[in-house]
Formats: sequence, structure tokens, C-alpha cells
Amino acid sequence: MESLKQYDEEAHKWLTENTSPYHWSRSHFRTIPNCDILLNNLCESFNSVILEAQEKPILGMLENIRMYLMERLRTKKEWIGKRTENLCPKIQKKLEKAKEDATFNIARFSNDSKFEVTHMYGEKFAVDLEKRVCDCRRWELTGIPCSHAVCCISVTGEELESFVNQCYSKDAYVKAYKPAIEPINGPNAWPNSKKDPIHAPKKLKLPGRPKKARRREPDE
Ligand SMILES: [Zn+2]
Repeated sequence: MESLKQYDEEAHKWLTENTSPYHWSRSHFRTIPNCDILLNNLCESFNSVILEAQEKPILGMLENIRMYLMERLRTKKEWIGKRTENLCPKIQKKLEKAKEDATFNIARFSNDSKFEVTHMYGEKFAVDLEKRVCDCRRWELTGIPCSHAVCCISVTGEELESFVNQCYSKDAYVKAYKPAIEPINGPNAWPNSKKDPIHAPKKLKLPGRPKKARRREPDE
């Protein structure tokens, strides 16, 4: 923050006065969600597939989203069913990267499940395999062992995947996509309520054009 202050005082002021680091710095994120995502891009990605639905009146919009989700649940279920690996592909990729980076570290046994890990450039971190923490915080933050932890796990010869949080397993994915959205009938098959039809509200035009493109993460 001191370096930032020297670089741009206004930016420093904005960050310290208007926001809390809990909202923008991974070093302050809570570890319970196992998530280090800085922006709400999950919502933004979802937003981009419902662009067509967004233009519609509320019932049409909901119907569009319902049909999209109905198909999505099915395709995701099929997709994961074909996979033989125990981890989801993006997590597997992150683990492979941690494996590559682990070769730049040396792990020294301390006691029980504790290690001291030294990086080739001199950084040092304490790792506890039993508690599943590394003092670099990445493991706690993401639920995926960091390169320091991977280095220690390779010393013990234990299976690396068993140290990844269960939320990234194939089983968890299957569970998440298990519920199905049942098909429903159209208005042609609905019972008649015998009440007067509801009229559409007056059209209200809001100023400006609604934003469509999603924001990208800085490292995307
Ligand atoms: Zn670490």
C-alpha cells in the first residue's frame, strides 16, 4: 500500500477510504468458501447466456431461463458422467501447474505432518498437511494444494488428489447437477381460471442502453 501511495496517491486514498481490503485483496478473503475469485464473473457468464431472455417481459424471460437450465442440467450431467478422472478438469489443470511449480521448492520435515518449504528464490513457508494449510494462504483460500504443499505431499508419497477439497470432486459435481427441471405444459394445457385477463403495463423507456458485455478479470 505504501508503494501504491507513492505511485498514485489518489488511488491509495480511494482504496483506503472507500473500500475495505476484504472486498478486493485476496490476502484478506475468508477461507471458508474455498474461493479466490475476485469478481462476480460466475454471474456475468450466466448473464451472457441469458442476453436474449433479458430483452423479454418477465414471464417470457423466466420461461427462457427455465428452458436453458433444464437443458444445461442435462448436458452437464452427461458430460461429467463421461469423465473418468476424480477431479473437475479446471481444478486438475491447476493441480498440474502446482506440480510443475513444486519442483522449485525443497521441503524439510519438521514434526508429524509439518514441513518447512524453501523456494529457490529464498521464500519460506510453513506447511501443515494434516490441517491442510500453507502459510502462503493459497491452499486455505482455494482448497487446492499450493506448490509448497504439493512439494511436501510428494515427499510423503501420499496421493495428491486426496488433499484437494471434496467440493472439486466428480462426486460433488454429480450431486450439484443431480436435480432435474421437470418438463411442463404450455398455456394450451392450463386450466381456465375464469378471471379477466391481465393487461400489460404501460411501456416505460429507460435512458441509455443496457450493458451487455461481461467484465473480464484483469488476468483473463
Ligand atoms: Zn503455499
